[in-house]
Amino acid sequence: MSTTLILLLISRLFAPQPLIVLDPGHGGSNMGAPTLNQHIHEKDLTLDTAQRVEHLLRARGFKVRMTRRDDAYLTLKQRAAMATGATCFVSIHYNTSKVHDRKGIEIFVPHSSAFGCFSETTPEDTTMLYSLKTSLEERSVMLAQTIKKRMPGSPRVAKAWFDVFEGLCTPSVLVELGFVDHPEEGSRILQASYRQHLAHLLADAIASSCR
Ligand SMILES: [Zn+2]
Repeated sequence: MSTTLILLLISRLFAPQPLIVLDPGHGGSNMGAPTLNQHIHEKDLTLDTAQRVEHLLRARGFKVRMTRRDDAYLTLKQRAAMATGATCFVSIHYNTSKVHDRKGIEIFVPHSSAFGCFSETTPEDTTMLYSLKTSLEERSVMLAQTIKKRMPGSPRVAKAWFDVFEGLCTPSVLVELGFVDHPEEGSRILQASYRQHLAHLLADAIASSCR
């Protein structure tokens, strides 16, 4: 078994205080979706929501790492790299649809083969690696199902091949917290009190799943 794999398994067995990595989607020149307010873009709402979740998790004693704290541009690889050693990785987004008629929350989890984990593995590692990736996928699905239970409107949970999941070695989800271009849902999302409500539900789900 490679040294990297041994070290990773040991770190998982003796995991210290849980570390949550929150990834506010987009940033900088990558504005994300336009909203019903021309001065606000998806990148602003994802940062605002992630900061609310961060505050709530820290108040409960969790360590939190943010992939960005301001309007910075980050590549998807940089985001995924910041998840190294974390208990959970949660990427936060808002959605749009072609004819502005869709609404609701969606939660995506990576396929087991998206997990990268190691660059150098020996042939003996293969079985161990397979079970590790399967366990990461299962824990991602558990986190997604916990978020689904707490969020309004019975959100859809699906597997997806998003680039931000590539190479991660951490239970991960990407949440789309509603459609910013839907007349009703979009205007609700622009209200800070609604985003605070979503942040509470998300922080609750993370706190009960990521230990
Ligand atoms: Zn997005």
